[in-house]
Amino acid sequence: MAQKKTYDVVIIGGGPAGLAAGIYVKRAALEAVLVEKGVPGGQVCITKGVENYPGIMDISGFDLSDKFFQHAKSYELETIQDEVTAIEPGAELHSVRLAGGEVIEAHSIILAAGGTARKLNVPGEIENFGRGVSYCATCDGFFFRQKVVCVIGGGDTALEDALYLAKIAKHVYLIHRRDEFRGSKILQQRIFAEPAVEIILNTVPTSILADESGVRAVALKNTRTGDQRELPVDGAFIFVGFSPNSGLVPAGVAMNDAGYVLTDDKLETSIPGIFCAGDLRQNFAKQIVIATSEGCIAALAAARYVETKKAHGKLAALVSK
Ligand code: NAP
Repeated sequence: MAQKKTYDVVIIGGGPAGLAAGIYVKRAALEAVLVEKGVPGGQVCITKGVENYPGIMDISGFDLSDKFFQHAKSYELETIQDEVTAIEPGAELHSVRLAGGEVIEAHSIILAAGGTARKLNVPGEIENFGRGVSYCATCDGFFFRQKVVCVIGGGDTALEDALYLAKIAKHVYLIHRRDEFRGSKILQQRIFAEPAVEIILNTVPTSILADESGVRAVALKNTRTGDQRELPVDGAFIFVGFSPNSGLVPAGVAMNDAGYVLTDDKLETSIPGIFCAGDLRQNFAKQIVIATSEGCIAALAAARYVETKKAHGKLAALVSK
């Protein structure tokens, strides 16, 4: 029977953090495998345009992800497309269980599972997903050519995607719950200058209304006056942040109340040999360049961890002889 392979590192997640980690662990000559349940690229794939990745002035999220993936593949990084169902930390080796039944054993793990779009949690949202409710302008904007849509949120994603939709739709309402945007100043300037975008502040959607052909309106409430009204729209794009994919984080790994993983400056978690990088980690800001940098740090730290562990193992074997 073939001996089961023990990896030096298993990377969980194929977004910018995971793929950058993949590049660096292969350059450190580690036996590595990356597990990703969907397509490589993570959340970046659904980002319209990236204008702030240093050295690349303008690129689609999909193309940037593909570059990361091809770069990692050029080092022959092994990848598995499967879902991780459990992570079991061990004293000697950690185990990663996959939905397909396989169990991967590794000296170290890099958690790079990122996050997913947060929901508004209003009536009509989930029921009408794919029927006018969307969390991805790049994916679905095309279906709203010359139609009226609303964008909900006030962060970078909402502003960027409202600008994107303004080029496709007839009219874009940008609905935000406060009187100032969280998104960057440069995006705000562009939003204010875009004639197809109409800004509605201090307002929250209370439900998404639909008929047999899909979304027809959003019900709105002014947070200051309490006034309620219906705004007719053909589509509702919801960009109200994201939540960390912390469901797989094993017990014993310290997290904050919001489910972000806490690490030290080597990005090692509270369990030795388990590292975390990117949007799943508690960090100052969520940016692609930060995710790739963290992937690099986690990979270098994992390489150091594995080398030290193996060196100790060899020493212990010599001493016991
Ligand atoms: P975000 O920065 O967390 O913004 C979420 C927005 O949704 C906020 O304006 C928030 O309002 C609003 N919101 C949250 N819950 C809501 C609710 N229940 N009802 C109504 N509005 C609600 O999320 P994001 O825009 O997805 O960005 C996430 C991270 O990725 C950020 O760090 C961002 O800078 C980064 N990002 C970067 C780029 C880029 O660099 N190109 C692009 C996209 C995202 P409040 O402001 O009142 O809290």
